[in-house]
Amino acid sequence: MEYAYDYLIVGGGMAADAAAKAIGAHDAAASIGIVGAEAAPPYERPPLSKALWKGDRTLASIDLGTAASGAELHLGRRMQTLDRDRHCAHDDHGDSWRYRRLLLATGATPRRLPFAGSDRVIDFRTVDDYRQLRRLAVAGARIAVVGGGFIGSELAASLAGVGCEVSMLFPAGSIGSGRYPPALATFLDDYYRERGIELLPGVKVVDGRAGKEGVELVLSDGRRLRADAVVAGLGVIPDTALAEWAGLDVADGVVVDGQLRTSDPDIWAAGDLASFFSPSLGRRLRVEHENAAVEMGAHAGRAMAGAGGEYTTLPYFYSDLFDLGYEAVGLLDARLELVEDWSEPHRKGVVYYLDDGRVRGVLLWNVWGQIDAARALIAQPGPFDPASLRGCISHDG
Ligand code: NAP
Repeated sequence: MEYAYDYLIVGGGMAADAAAKAIGAHDAAASIGIVGAEAAPPYERPPLSKALWKGDRTLASIDLGTAASGAELHLGRRMQTLDRDRHCAHDDHGDSWRYRRLLLATGATPRRLPFAGSDRVIDFRTVDDYRQLRRLAVAGARIAVVGGGFIGSELAASLAGVGCEVSMLFPAGSIGSGRYPPALATFLDDYYRERGIELLPGVKVVDGRAGKEGVELVLSDGRRLRADAVVAGLGVIPDTALAEWAGLDVADGVVVDGQLRTSDPDIWAAGDLASFFSPSLGRRLRVEHENAAVEMGAHAGRAMAGAGGEYTTLPYFYSDLFDLGYEAVGLLDARLELVEDWSEPHRKGVVYYLDDGRVRGVLLWNVWGQIDAARALIAQPGPFDPASLRGCISHDG
């Protein structure tokens, strides 16, 4: 079968939803098609590791209501090839998709544990993964969480919150290592241990076996760990296969210009897979967070409909770790010079990430409503030093 749309969006996540809504708002008469690999229509991804576990949100509430944009949704399909000369893509069902303008919003694919084959082993990414973990995460269940990044740290806290016995293992020396100042990372480790989470730093999973009764993990230091289930957040790989197949410029993501247009004038890219230039950081970035997906998706949608300017937004991100939480902007790279400004040590404060007199990142630890102040600071040429930065951003919003 052959479909034809004015605007074809490949990918069915948050960037796709934002793009469809922006196109619908600017070109109401146009036809919009979304082809997504997941069976679920676009939904908010962040609650999967946070709010759904606290009971703050329900599964029904995370649906983004994309169809209201006028877009037609075609789910459970993966686009396999893209003929740019003919403006036509082909999916794994054998169907063809003609387009006038196309958005690549294929996101990213999770890195996988070195074994699989059981519903007790979950490489966590999707709402189906959430449902599967939720079935296994009964009070008292032993869950091994692999990875100390965003998913690992958020899920470990969420699982402990519903009464699971959690072991968390990761290759680095501490949770969020490389992201937070060392003393904050140590504080966070202690915080997790005090809340009953067993930490196994400095190890990877090299093998494992899963059966009806549970899972046995083989760790890189030779230890074995038994659990009722294992859930992993090992990072993601941008899903650039279609862009590469089509011969678009790809370098750690699909390379886009200031309008989020790829090296093909009729194709845009947004979200996890897009490498864009950040004027305030003076370098290319690829950002795997909700705000980037939503802002870039909306911008690309407007641009595709002829209403786009330059994309200059520096995305922010946030996390919840038990009752601790933060928002952040820019590069959280603990190798930079770190300027810590605490009003209450490790409970409330701001960390500035300084590089040769420029602020490259700001961590707002239990400090809220200061995203724009942080963005403005990162955009300033400086030069800054630790003394001039302390107190720069108010801790009281
Ligand atoms: P992530 O934050 O990049 O963390 C990956 C973790 O996996 C790191 O601790 C890493 O350790 C570890 N790791 C890598 N290879 C490993 C291996 N073979 N064995 C054991 N551990 C290994 O990625 P994520 O937590 O999987 O999250 C996936 C994506 O979703 C990311 O893009 C993230 O930004 C996004 N996300 C964002 C949020 C948020 O914004 N709050 C929440 C959830 C997910 P090393 O660092 O030591 O290599």
